[in-house]
Amino acid sequence: MSFRDAGFPADRDMYEKNQILQINITDISHEGEGIGRTDGFTWFVKDTIPGDVVEASVMKTKKTYGYARLQRVIASSEDRVEPGCRKARACGGCTLQAMSYPAQLEFKRNKVRNVLERIGGFKLDEEGIRVEPVIGMEDPWRYRNKAIIPIGRDKDGKVTAGFYAAHSHDIIECEDCLLGCRENKDILVQIKKVYTDDMTHVLIRKGFRTGELMVCTVSNHDNNAVLSGEITPAAGSPDHIEDYIGDLKFRISPRSFFQVNPIQVEKLYGKAVEFAGLTGKETVWDLYCGIGTISLALAKKAGRVYGVEIIEQAIEDARENAKLNGISNAEFFVGKAEEVTLREEFAGCSPDVVVVDPPRKGCDRVCLDTILRMNPERIVYVSCDPATLARDLRILCDGDYRLQRVQPVDMFPQTVHVETVVLLSKGNISSQNVRVEFSLEDMDMSRFQQGATYKQIQDWVQEKYGFHVSHLNIAQVKRKHGIIERENYNKPKSLDSRQPGCPEEKENAIAAALKHFQMI
Ligand code: SAH
Repeated sequence: MSFRDAGFPADRDMYEKNQILQINITDISHEGEGIGRTDGFTWFVKDTIPGDVVEASVMKTKKTYGYARLQRVIASSEDRVEPGCRKARACGGCTLQAMSYPAQLEFKRNKVRNVLERIGGFKLDEEGIRVEPVIGMEDPWRYRNKAIIPIGRDKDGKVTAGFYAAHSHDIIECEDCLLGCRENKDILVQIKKVYTDDMTHVLIRKGFRTGELMVCTVSNHDNNAVLSGEITPAAGSPDHIEDYIGDLKFRISPRSFFQVNPIQVEKLYGKAVEFAGLTGKETVWDLYCGIGTISLALAKKAGRVYGVEIIEQAIEDARENAKLNGISNAEFFVGKAEEVTLREEFAGCSPDVVVVDPPRKGCDRVCLDTILRMNPERIVYVSCDPATLARDLRILCDGDYRLQRVQPVDMFPQTVHVETVVLLSKGNISSQNVRVEFSLEDMDMSRFQQGATYKQIQDWVQEKYGFHVSHLNIAQVKRKHGIIERENYNKPKSLDSRQPGCPEEKENAIAAALKHFQMI
């Protein structure tokens, strides 16, 4: 009897190199490869997407999983499209190119949702939390304002620019990466003419709003930190450029950190500022502030902003940027967020709002504990990794904060990455909301109840208008139309004043639902 007959999961010994397998792709890994299973054995197959049925050849196997190379798509996923770039398979930089853009956005939204439930332990539907549709790009190509392109000689001594082949320093020619700007191609033609053997990379930065271009050649063989090498502006190139995010101006040097998708970053920061809910008086911390981009956007609407960042050069840039924009209510500190916020000068300043935008590994536990102790009204969490976001949100929500808004933004179309902005507010207000919602829910279930349930109203609005309304929204509109009073709903008046009003669009939709169900 074989393993298969006995129902055992398959073993790596069942497979040999170059063996051809038929695999149904059902998922995507965090690196962007398609995932499928044969007899319980997991395969990672680059260049495939969920819904594909493919023929793939075994490359290598580990104990419980293996890698296989796509040979042929037998049946295409309905989301499959022809990759825009001819070099997509060799490059591997944009692993979602074979997926239509709307499907990419839906995939990213689901990813955030799943991770919040699985890692964060949130029960999104029960808790009435909606992960908003991902804010995508109108044209999801050519969005990068920075390119670092390897340059060198090929086997025949010909100067080549492009990208490194997997696990090697052989350069595969590619002068027009479809994520980069159109100018890159002509620039590379010119640089190739003046190539010298010490060059390893070409750095090109473009100000999307100013149109300014900076071209530098780089000499560095440490590929993990290319820009730590020697950087020389090419003949005729400036040594810095300027660009805008919203109406804020930034000076960008070759080594400066600057978000690479300037179109989406405006939407991302716009959400972060909106969620911060500033009126002009607030004290705000911006932890992990980089060159102060979010801090300065916040400063225009807050009383005072304190930015904290570990890299000294970035803080110098942040101070310069504040000056450049005439902003005097933002102060910047060098150090680890988890340490600086414990310093005496911070101890006295209890912030109204804390914004964090940590690297992929998320916030340090000490930093989260400090934030909890400081007890701000609102926390805005900007995250580039949903998994660490979910972990940290659990800690904050166990510490009496409540998830209010979850808004993913697509900063990196064609790749698996997704950025998310989250609003948390202090539990004491929102736990009253929760109580209100639960008691209304109970009302709904009672045998005295007439008309549609909250769930039915929600579903009707979702179906007709395509957006979600919360129990609280429905309660507010019901109250406005005198229905709740009729239901003899007993609620202290004072609560009303603390609840945010229902947006007009939602109010109209709910009123339409109430009419539809003949409740008004
Ligand atoms: N908010 C900025 C930068 C976000 S990237 C922007 O949107 O442009 C995350 C930043 O956190 C990086 O600049 C990194 O240098 C910084 N960082 C990493 N670990 C840190 C720590 N422990 N304390 C403070 N800053 C840190």
